[in-house]
Amino acid sequence: MRLVLVGPPGAGKGTQAALLSRKLAVPHISTGDLFRQHINDRTPLGREAERYLDVGELVPDHITNDMVRRRLAEDDAREGFLLDGFPRTLQQVDVLSDILAENGAELNAVLEFSVPEHIVVARLLSRGRPDDTEDLIKHRQQVYRDETAPLLDSYTGIHVKVHAVGPVEEIAERVLGTIAMPHRTSRAREKPQVRRP
Ligand code: ADP
Repeated sequence: MRLVLVGPPGAGKGTQAALLSRKLAVPHISTGDLFRQHINDRTPLGREAERYLDVGELVPDHITNDMVRRRLAEDDAREGFLLDGFPRTLQQVDVLSDILAENGAELNAVLEFSVPEHIVVARLLSRGRPDDTEDLIKHRQQVYRDETAPLLDSYTGIHVKVHAVGPVEEIAERVLGTIAMPHRTSRAREKPQVRRP
């Protein structure tokens, strides 16, 4: 199962990804986590990425793409993955399709986590990560709207919108339901191309 999770900062992708990764037995690959790990380990990539995370900007595509390409080449990602936070730009969409094509693989679904903005902002303010100040949150929401949301149009047919407000387990069930029964979602009804697990 190869899934991409898309949603604004604070949509709960990380929480859901951790849960779904256990249920579906595929690795959870979060670009934000990978960057934070590099920053912690003080690697050259971490030092480069840090200045972007600090100000809520996207890390440049070439850095992000190389990191993801290397991660997806690891053994555990061969049969499937939950990609959380990638792609986030149209250029990253192209790179991901190249990587998949090289491996003769396809995405099963692109899950959009839909949450009203006032809820995500409240969640982030209570999370307290260094990039969760009010100004940076606003900025990251803007970056999401400008750079990331438009890429959903690239995934007609496998784009599935999930209402991501409610108890964590319930949202996970909703996600699993849409993957297993794509005809339940309006988008997938138009073009039912989501492959079953
Ligand atoms: P959030 O979704 O709350 O912004 P993430 O952990 O997904 O949290 O991302 C944190 C930061 O990592 C982003 O603000 C950005 O600087 C960087 N980042 C994560 N994924 C990408 C990506 N695909 N491209 C560029 N930068 C990214």
